[in-house]
Amino acid sequence: MDNRTVLPEVETFLKDSPKKMLIDGKWVESLSGNTFPTYDPATEKILALVYEARKEDVDRAVNAARQAFEHGTWARISPSDRSKLMMRLADLMETHAEELAQIESLDNGKPLHAAKSSDVPASIELFRYMAGWATKIEGNTIPFSLASPNRYLAYTLKEPIGVVGQIIPWNYPLLMASWKLAPALATGCTVILKPAEQTPLTALRLGELIVEAGFPEGVVNILPGFGEPAGAAIANHCGIDKVAFTGSTEVGKSIVRAAVGNLKKLTLELGGKSPNIIFADADLDKAIGEAANAAFINSGQNCCAGSRLFIEKKIYEELTKAITQQAKELRVGSGFDTNSQIGPLISAEQLQRVSSYVQSGIRQGAEVGCGGVRIGEKGYFFAPTLLTNVHAQMKVYQEEIFGPVVCALPFDAEKEEDLIKMANETIYGLAAGIWTRDISKAHRLAAKIKAGTVWINCYNVDDPALPFGGYKQSGWGREMGHEVLENYLQTKSVCVQL
Ligand code: ADP
Repeated sequence: MDNRTVLPEVETFLKDSPKKMLIDGKWVESLSGNTFPTYDPATEKILALVYEARKEDVDRAVNAARQAFEHGTWARISPSDRSKLMMRLADLMETHAEELAQIESLDNGKPLHAAKSSDVPASIELFRYMAGWATKIEGNTIPFSLASPNRYLAYTLKEPIGVVGQIIPWNYPLLMASWKLAPALATGCTVILKPAEQTPLTALRLGELIVEAGFPEGVVNILPGFGEPAGAAIANHCGIDKVAFTGSTEVGKSIVRAAVGNLKKLTLELGGKSPNIIFADADLDKAIGEAANAAFINSGQNCCAGSRLFIEKKIYEELTKAITQQAKELRVGSGFDTNSQIGPLISAEQLQRVSSYVQSGIRQGAEVGCGGVRIGEKGYFFAPTLLTNVHAQMKVYQEEIFGPVVCALPFDAEKEEDLIKMANETIYGLAAGIWTRDISKAHRLAAKIKAGTVWINCYNVDDPALPFGGYKQSGWGREMGHEVLENYLQTKSVCVQL
């Protein structure tokens, strides 16, 4: 049942509209006074109005973040106190977990139970994991190779990179905000975070909790706004030392160009078109269910969606049929309907984009095994779709659709090199799945697939400790794990003649 019953706190939060932005520890209106609506994609109704950040607001936030970084209490805070603040924030998120999950489900459309069981706890855990690192950031002492011993004392310091701009997408709004904020805060940076214009609400609620946790003013600034002008203003701002971006490869490239002015450091987590490979010797029952999940979870709006499904020839017919059946049984509906497994797409624009990809596939000769159409007339629901008769020249095979659409293709297990070539023949390299009981084959393939993450006999498994990021045009740098910290640190070598 979808009765849209929300917690009183959520109701109050939504009623307090237009929602202000967080700059220098205060909730403020945009300087222009402009606002924009954010919608519930299940009902197409406006949830709230939000003040729209533009360049002049970004300027204000950069000044606040710079002041906090260079001169504020944040500049003098001990790592232990930074860690405690992050732990306090995680505790507050836990206290308000239901509320965060409801806001996320309303704003993004995803099933409430998914927000509750995955997005929110994973975000909390990420803050806790990164809080642990705040006190463990160390340089080295360096023995020289050219000078005689004891001639020089040399060591490295790891210093925070400074003021960081973070631009995030709408598919996992709270989780992406957490992936970005937590390492920046652990390392001592200050932040200007721009949530996606489609889903600004959980980032704003998180901002309230950040203030409540006691982070000093200016450390985290949250500015909802559009790619142009707000995102672009962050990307080319000379007062920003580093930008971390998650989104499409196309926008990622425009950020690279915009960042040239002051050569700011960049990390990019971009698109994917990930191969999911099922061999006949796999645990097929598990592989079938997980292949459907890999493709359709979060309505396929997932950068590591297993959107190219390679199935060994001799089980191709049987598995395509079984996965089609699974796809048909998935219950598509409002996130607040407890039966829903798949929510709506994020927007009318996304619905149009996904539909036109499917149409282009059909024009190029693909066959629709299931789905391929919008469901209903209200809300941006799209049926889980499986395409067969696909070939490598099709747009549906090469390009990221960001919707519940999977292309199924057969492969010959005797020709491993051909399979590897197929797995690697897109511009992307974010993730891959391999399903087999043959461990040698699994590891052989894992080594040859050009992807930042390879899942063997599982898919979409993340952990705060496991680095995540892309090969090729799927991005630069890694998020999570201790590797992410390097993105927010710079190394200073200090050399003393003794
Ligand atoms: P998607 O295709 O998933 O919507 P985008 O790459 O368009 O992803 O958007 C991801 C984030 O990038 C959003 O916060 C969006 O506002 C922002 N963005 C879009 N265009 C630009 C741009 N030119 N410069 C900076 N940020 C942008």
